[in-house]
Amino acid sequence: MESLRITLDQSEIPTHWYNVVADLPTPPLPPLAADGEPVSPEQMGAIFPAAIIEQEMSGERWIPIPEPVREVYRLWRPSPLIRARRLEELLATPARIYYKYEGVSPAGSHKPNTAVAQAFYNQQAGIKRITTETGAGQWGCSMAFAGQMFGLDVRVYMVKVSFQQKPYRRSMMQTWGAEVFASPSPMTQTGRDLLASDPDNQGSLGIAISEAVEDAAGRADTSYALGSVLNHVALHQTIIGQEAKKQFEKVADWPDVIFAPCGGGSSFAGLAFPFIADNAAGGRNGRPTRLVAVEPTSCPTLTRGAYAYDFGDASGFTPLMKMYTLGHDFMPPGIHAGGLRYHGDSPLVSQLYHEGLIEAVAVAQLATFEAGVMFSRAEGIIPAPESNHALRAAIDEALRCKRSGEAKTILVNLTGHGHFDMAAYDRYFAGELDDFEYPAEAIRASLENLPKVG
Ligand SMILES: *Cc1c(COP(=O)(O)O)cnc(C)c1O
Repeated sequence: MESLRITLDQSEIPTHWYNVVADLPTPPLPPLAADGEPVSPEQMGAIFPAAIIEQEMSGERWIPIPEPVREVYRLWRPSPLIRARRLEELLATPARIYYKYEGVSPAGSHKPNTAVAQAFYNQQAGIKRITTETGAGQWGCSMAFAGQMFGLDVRVYMVKVSFQQKPYRRSMMQTWGAEVFASPSPMTQTGRDLLASDPDNQGSLGIAISEAVEDAAGRADTSYALGSVLNHVALHQTIIGQEAKKQFEKVADWPDVIFAPCGGGSSFAGLAFPFIADNAAGGRNGRPTRLVAVEPTSCPTLTRGAYAYDFGDASGFTPLMKMYTLGHDFMPPGIHAGGLRYHGDSPLVSQLYHEGLIEAVAVAQLATFEAGVMFSRAEGIIPAPESNHALRAAIDEALRCKRSGEAKTILVNLTGHGHFDMAAYDRYFAGELDDFEYPAEAIRASLENLPKVG
């Protein structure tokens, strides 16, 4: 009988991460400091350990995964690849739909793949304490869990709107021993300034990053950890795509198209980047696998942003990165896919998009919940609202296949479960959610404040 769940042995967990930089047509542009010069490793040393900085700047194709990291990965990896037979039947599509399910991790998403690696390298460097930010709470939970695995204290600045909407994510972080503050908070100068001008500021990922970086830069025993965007984060996530490739080999199938949600781009990178190497050689189906990043219409970074140098945070603490951006003071509306509310995008994902090697599409909120509910009823798993974006695009593709009669193989990145997002599902069922198309005028206004470079 055909197995729906394609599993691997623990011994088949990849031994190396894949660095897409080695296969880029042109070298990546460096991050720039405030003076317009490339950021030096010494400057990055104020907030990151040396091993992470080395990975951030590396051009090596394969980077070994340290054994203590693989050992923690073994708590939930390899993650399953599942054929969505019931969804295919429901849609009456000739397409084959598979999903790679990252919700099996302790924190319920793909994010521990990098949190565990970052905690390990910080512990090795003698760091005692990590500060970070979190939007929906997924990253904060992942870092809190990973901190416990390697004996580090963790402080999380949590975007205020999520702090209020997702109290159980905060409890999870506290259960894993982390301190959690609603951002903007009174703990940093950035937070105090913002609260002085608007005590009801709902926060944003950019603001929370500013607070965490300010905190880490002020203490020698403290590093900062970022859950997305940066090259080393994308690198650590490539375990997802490498496992998926082995799983497809087992069933002698290969994706024609991959859909992944895209906020800061790390889970997209994780699943898609390992296929770039095959695409460069023409692809295994006689054509390249299409790699599609799916974002919300309310925060349309790739599809409507500018490709420019911009800050990673709201107040300009971080280096400037060349990326697709909506402007660092862009204020996304309080949509429920908190993990997708970021003004920028991974520089590597941005470069691949700019060079036409990947695609992007934006989908509206209501249609994503419709897809998530359909998927839950067919397949059982209740997806995170972020994952619903990829599901929406995949279902639309499967319906196109139905019209054209093409039996394409579709792969979805099911980046997490939605067990802590049920308030959002409740609001969807109650008809209280809206679609929001960011007004072109507001995007133009925000892009006018891009820093001037060169
Ligand atoms: C954080 C998150 C995302 C988006 O972040 P990326 O860095 O773009 O991957 C997607 N899905 C889930 C479940 C998340 O927690």
